[in-house]
Amino acid sequence: MPGQDSETIFTKIIQGEIPCQKVFENEHILAFLDIAPLAEGHTLVVPKCQVERLEDLPPETAAEVARQLGPIARRILAATGAEGYNILQNNGKVAGQEIPHVHFHIIPRRPGDGLGYRWNARPADPQALADLAQRIRAATD
Ligand code: AMP
Repeated sequence: MPGQDSETIFTKIIQGEIPCQKVFENEHILAFLDIAPLAEGHTLVVPKCQVERLEDLPPETAAEVARQLGPIARRILAATGAEGYNILQNNGKVAGQEIPHVHFHIIPRRPGDGLGYRWNARPADPQALADLAQRIRAATD
């Protein structure tokens, strides 16, 4: 249930029990530098409510995250001189989520930075795509 998941290190950071390098804070969100950055300026944007996965985030909190991500990214680019950035958001261990508290990575990108990801795309069968889209539309929340 939203807000009921168990406490993580991010809750301790939000409550000020563990230090962080804060870059932004308001009533709903805390953003701070990742302690093990993939690039200079790698920042975590963390909703203050204790929820494990994106699909369980209350809509008003999700809207606030969406409102703030762009402005925070703009400030990171201005401060670091990076040219672009990736937003990464992991849900579930299988997707690489280590901390079970929703968070968004802002990862600044520079030419030749050597960062990347496997994107093993293959052409799909059109009928299989149509069937799958139908199943997703029909699925319940
Ligand atoms: P994820 O794999 O999406 O759960 O990412 C968790 C991120 O949290 C990793 O990039 C860690 O480096 C970062 N992290 C863990 N502990 C801390 C901490 N105390 N302060 C800042 N970042 C942290």
